Amino acid sequence: MNFPPQEDGFERLWTPQRMSYVLSNDSHVPPKSDECPFCIAPTKSDEDGLIVWRGCSVFVIMNLYPYNVGHVMVCPYRHVSFLTDLHDEELFEFEKTSAVAMQVMKQVSSPDGWNLGINQGDVAGAGIASHLHQHIVPRWNGDANFMPIVAQTRTMPILLSNQRAAYAPVFAHLAREAGLKESSIAANTDDAVRDKKTQTPATHVENATADMQEE
Ligand SMILES: [Zn+2]
Repeated sequence: MNFPPQEDGFERLWTPQRMSYVLSNDSHVPPKSDECPFCIAPTKSDEDGLIVWRGCSVFVIMNLYPYNVGHVMVCPYRHVSFLTDLHDEELFEFEKTSAVAMQVMKQVSSPDGWNLGINQGDVAGAGIASHLHQHIVPRWNGDANFMPIVAQTRTMPILLSNQRAAYAPVFAHLAREAGLKESSIAANTDDAVRDKKTQTPATHVENATADMQEE
């Protein structure tokens, strides 16, 4: 039988006996939504929560610890861990919103490429494994300089609040053009959370625009 060549240069050591250990690992801690940053952020104002856009079942938020300037994340409002936990409508909005995020970045800062990705589970490197989030990271030719290698430091030439304010009105516009509905109410959050949310979608856009004019 002809097998394809090893494309990545790695040999494989097959160890099926480890599967019993892997499957017996029951250390999974149930997620706590009351401590989850992705559950708390939508209860704040757009500015305080660094929210770029609020859809019906997902929202877009700036990453507090960006891999690169302009790094956003798309999150469902529901506190679920895996892509497979999303309903069809959520799944569609999750990916459609990710595509709009790319369009927004293209319009605002003309990146040369993107990294999109979801780390699912602690073992896969998810920082907040209990709440699904998709990273959307714009990339420019030559953006990876020596700083991350020699100084464990990423250089960020624009503040998160300013970047959010630059994205928000463009996101509102392009999301509308893409047929996505904007919402000020987080889907599937409880009434207490909803009571804290006082802004209407129109106010969000106005605020973001006002921010831009001020800055
Ligand atoms: Zn959460």
